[in-house]
Amino acid sequence: MFGILRKIAAFYNLLPCPLCRTGDGGGENRFCPECLEKLPRITGVRCPGCGGAFDGVLGVCSKCLGPHIRRRPWLGAASIFEYRDQVRELIHDFKFHDMPELARPLGELGAELVGSLHFEPDLVVPVPLHWMRRLRRGYNQSGLFGQVVARRLGIREYSVLRRVRHGKRQAALKLEARWRNPQNAFKLRKPELVRGKRILLVDDVFTTGATLDAAARELLRGGAVCVYVLTAARA
Ligand SMILES: [Zn+2]
Ligand SMILES: [Zn+2]
Repeated sequence: MFGILRKIAAFYNLLPCPLCRTGDGGGENRFCPECLEKLPRITGVRCPGCGGAFDGVLGVCSKCLGPHIRRRPWLGAASIFEYRDQVRELIHDFKFHDMPELARPLGELGAELVGSLHFEPDLVVPVPLHWMRRLRRGYNQSGLFGQVVARRLGIREYSVLRRVRHGKRQAALKLEARWRNPQNAFKLRKPELVRGKRILLVDDVFTTGATLDAAARELLRGGAVCVYVLTAARA
């Protein structure tokens, strides 16, 4: 019951800040300034490998230097938040607790970030869920996030990737297995839509980057000129 009311309210932009439920984030269901202040946003120099905070002296951050990590196939990466504290709960709500309205505040921050980093994508492509998972959840959180980002950037969003194997959930796997798991997990539908295009690939969380790696390679195989990666949070 409350779920339905919340969705109606979200649709008409009547919701206040989705975190504190009282603050005013500027009308459009955005985070209010007080909540935004408390969230662990990534600022300063970013690692080009993952879009997280840059902590090293080499080309990429320490998390991107692990033995299982392949050379990143994208041109640039950006992540809005560190995946901890309240952001962890927020992403969890977005994925598992039927709160699709979180796509809006996250998408707006994501689009802002993409603009500030001078990525110039022609097209947004979300990392898909397997259709069975999508059916159970009712929506693909990365798809909704991508739609808001695309709208804000004034470009199109196409869900042209399809998951062909119902791989084990990445979160349940050890690091090495995470890299083996998603290879060939994606199939590009309609390559004509990505051919010659600069793609912004979006997902909710950047963990090892293995899933994004597999998705990006499939887009590049299909003729995309380059891929940028945007995630809501970096684990
Ligand atoms: Zn708030
Ligand atoms: Zn990194």
